[in-house]
This record gives sequence, C-alpha cells and structure tokens, in this order.
Amino acid sequence: MSIQSSNISIESSFKIYDNYYVYDKKTQNEFIDSSLRVHRGFYNYDKVFFINRESDVIVTCPNHGDFHIKPKRHYRGVGCNKCKC
Ligand SMILES: [Zn+2]
Repeated sequence: MSIQSSNISIESSFKIYDNYYVYDKKTQNEFIDSSLRVHRGFYNYDKVFFINRESDVIVTCPNHGDFHIKPKRHYRGVGCNKCKC
C-alpha cells in the first residue's frame, strides 16, 4: 500500500516534464533517481538516454541484461519481463 502511494506522487511530479522533448541531463537524472526509488536500486541505468516519458529507454536487469521500456511504465513499477516480480 505504501508503494502504491509513492508511485502516485512520483507520477504526478513528472507531469511538469511533459513538455520536454529534447535531451535534458537534469530530466534524465530525475528519471534515474525515481526509478532507483521505485525499484529499490535493482536495475542499472548506465544506458538510459531519457527523451520523454513516452520514449523507450534501455534499462539493464542484473539477471537478464538490457531491455527497452517506456519511462512512464517503469515509474509504475514495471521492470524486466523475465523477472516477473
Ligand atoms: Zn530480469
């Protein structure tokens, strides 16, 4: 239940970034910080190139390697397909 409410606050805090369609290092760092919090540091974000919430980024699973995912889904707790946890 506490995870659910923290996801909602992260999602709403990112609405201010909806107008960013160019690469922005600050926005990328925000994405990585929030993702580390949501997924408790499970994934690696060395290959992330954040453009906007709708554009796929590359996230690295420690067990299965790289996968593509939309940032808005990753914020909601969606991660590696193969882990299914
Ligand atoms: Zn995995």
